[in-house]
Amino acid sequence: MSFTETPEQLALREAVAQLGAAYGYEYMVGKARSGGDMAELYAEAGKLGYLGVNLPTEYGGGGGGMYELAIVEEELGTAGCGLLMMVVSPAICGTVIAKYGTNSQKDRWLPGLADGSEIMAFAITESDAGSNSHRITTTARRDGDDWILSGAKTYISGVDVAQNVLVVARTEDSATGALKPVLFVVPTDSTGLEYTKIEMDMISADHQFTVFIDDVRLPSDALVGSEDAAIDQLFAGLNPERIMASSFAIGMARYALNIAVNYAKERVVWRDKPIGSHQGVAHPLAQAHIEVQLAKLMMQKAATLYDQGDHMGAGEAANMAKYAAGEAGTRAVDQAVQTLGGNGLASEYGLGALIAASKLSRIAPVSREMILNFIAQHSLDLPKSY
Ligand SMILES: Cc1cc2nc3c(=O)[nH]c(=O)nc-3n(C[C@H](O)[C@H](O)[C@H](O)COP(=O)(O)OP(=O)(O)OC[C@H]3O[C@@H](n4cnc5c(N)ncnc54)[C@H](O)[C@@H]3O)c2cc1C
Repeated sequence: MSFTETPEQLALREAVAQLGAAYGYEYMVGKARSGGDMAELYAEAGKLGYLGVNLPTEYGGGGGGMYELAIVEEELGTAGCGLLMMVVSPAICGTVIAKYGTNSQKDRWLPGLADGSEIMAFAITESDAGSNSHRITTTARRDGDDWILSGAKTYISGVDVAQNVLVVARTEDSATGALKPVLFVVPTDSTGLEYTKIEMDMISADHQFTVFIDDVRLPSDALVGSEDAAIDQLFAGLNPERIMASSFAIGMARYALNIAVNYAKERVVWRDKPIGSHQGVAHPLAQAHIEVQLAKLMMQKAATLYDQGDHMGAGEAANMAKYAAGEAGTRAVDQAVQTLGGNGLASEYGLGALIAASKLSRIAPVSREMILNFIAQHSLDLPKSY
């Protein structure tokens, strides 16, 4: 085990930080407030090879792992412009296709996901199922060689910028009971697929949608992986999602703390000492910094285990990392706003908009309560109550 990043990882961190600085918070918030998206940054990150660092080199990727992809997300977030679609497109969809896709599916999808010329959204959440994915009802039935898919998904990020969405469904013969997921790549312009935007009170350049899937006809090769591969196939994508959600939250927290610390060094209101000399200001910032670094350590452990192929170990660590990053990130943003006093809520200082956005890391892709349930049952062997 090493706590030192390789020269390549450090160089990646540095290069992505430079890209992030060229766009930054102003870019993100400008797009968010005008209802736009971050297409330019996404395209440039793709062209530079950052979006596909985790994907295999033979399909246009960088041949690295989740550790490297998390570096990219963290550094963009630290610059104030984390990309939510990185959590989805290369991390979830890219990983699932790279692991379970046929050679022709890999040829078809991975190069575009790696260079950012194509984006794939991911849809598991349904309004009547919520955190209980076993209750999803989006159903696929066979019609000759084709599949017919019907159902509805909600809170699906980035459907407006995605050419395809990886939909988690169940087959007709397993329409009830424990989920036996089947995964389909569904073009967003399919006949029978429609989506409507959900108005959010979160300032973000990534938008969420309800997706209606009404008898969408799909060719047999839209199915990724096996009909019977059970839940492992889905979790191949969900552990990367948790690692990336952690790095998204950690990046945002680092961005917020940097602003707060710089402000606390400059702002003088009592005699000639900056407010950062008062322990009432300094200690909460130090505490937030420690918590963010602890969350980062767990995220790095999860990514390392995942990249080494220890999926059980990675599952536990990815959940813990996501919990820790959600808690540390939310508290860091809150404390950063507090440090700036009234300016913490002024648009000019670039923090207030993050209050709602930082809460996302406590809710999605899996809520903090569901992680506590997971750890209670799987790590502590406590009985399940629900
Ligand atoms: C901005 C945003 C982007 C998203 N993007 C996507 C996406 O791209 N694709 C996608 O598929 N989904 C996406 N989601 C959905 C997200 O994954 C869900 O919101 C999340 O999983 C929680 O589900 P829910 O909102 O239905 O909450 P519910 O399941 O209704 O839960 C409500 C509350 O009850 C708690 N709760 C529920 N069950 C228990 C229990 N057994 N014990 C204790 N507490 C419990 C939860 O923790 C939560 O606090 C997104 C959500 C948001 C807000």
